Parts: sequence; structure tokens; C-alpha cells
Amino acid sequence: MAKPMSEQPPVHVQPHHHGPPVVRFCSGCTAPLERRRVEGKVLPVCPRCGQVVYADPKVAAGAIIEHAGRILLLRRAISPARGLWTFPGGYVDRGEPVPEAAAREAHEEAGVTVAVGELLGVYSARDVAVVLIVYRARLVSGTPHAGAEALEVRWVQPEHLPWDELAFPSTAAALTDWRSTLAE
Ligand SMILES: [Zn+2]
Repeated sequence: MAKPMSEQPPVHVQPHHHGPPVVRFCSGCTAPLERRRVEGKVLPVCPRCGQVVYADPKVAAGAIIEHAGRILLLRRAISPARGLWTFPGGYVDRGEPVPEAAAREAHEEAGVTVAVGELLGVYSARDVAVVLIVYRARLVSGTPHAGAEALEVRWVQPEHLPWDELAFPSTAAALTDWRSTLAE
């Protein structure tokens, strides 16, 4: 039976950290983990039961939302990259279809309902935990407003994208790909 919430240990949430998770104890037998070389990599290993903790990638979904020749950008209110611009996006829940995650994030972060369209690209980099999957999307309804994780939201014309103030390299890569689709 699940413990009532008051008896459960606190969970320290780091909503958008990009490094590998720091795991100190074995989830199987609770022994302190040691770092050992496994298949050429140094990974946390349980000295008692032998479980290896593999650091899986984090999958994120993003939506470049088009409306009347502009796209919706938001300025991040949270670390990392606080104060910098990106399109709506965030982590995919386990079991959640990726396009639905992109639409959910657009609603949570910018208050809009969108129709998710074609895949724009998949963005990954060496030693970066996050794999970002970006879709083109179009506005269905809603007036954009900043959610809890955004300082402001704004419709931006393709020629006015804030290249010097983008949140992540993956943001710039996706916007570059999106802009190149306009010339087709
Ligand atoms: Zn163990």
C-alpha cells in the first residue's frame, strides 16, 4: 500500500537540469553506489546487488507555432537560460506521445491550443542529456500569455528572430531549420 504523502520523503525536483542525474543509492537494495568502469564508461554501480545505473537521455518536445507569418516565442522565467528566448517545449512524460507533449507544453507555457504538424527535426549533441524533438504547429485558439515558466510571450516575424538571445544551441538549430523551410 502506498504511504500517505506526509510520510513520504521530500522529492527535490530540478525541472530543467541538463546534466546527468546524481544518483547516490541503489534503487533495488538501497546500498550506496560506487562509480565503476562498465563497458568502457564510468557509471554508478551497486556493490551489493550489481545493478548498473545507466543515464538515459531526456526526451523533450517543442513546437514552432505559426500564425499569420509569425511564430510564438517565449522568454524563459526559469534556469537554465533564464531571460532568453525559445519556442514552447519541455520534457515528454513516459508513455506520452511526443506530439501530444509538444501541444501540452504550448498550452502550459503560452496558453494556446495548437495543431501539431510535421516533424521539423531531432536535435541532440555530445554530452548533452536532452534530445529535443521539434514539430511545426499552427495556432488553433487562444491568446498567448506567459505561463509560470515564461516571463513573456511574443509573436515574432522570421526576419526578427532574436538570434543573440536564444536559450540553447538546439533552439538556434531548430529555428534555422524552420526558417529554411520558408524558402522552399
Ligand atoms: Zn543494489
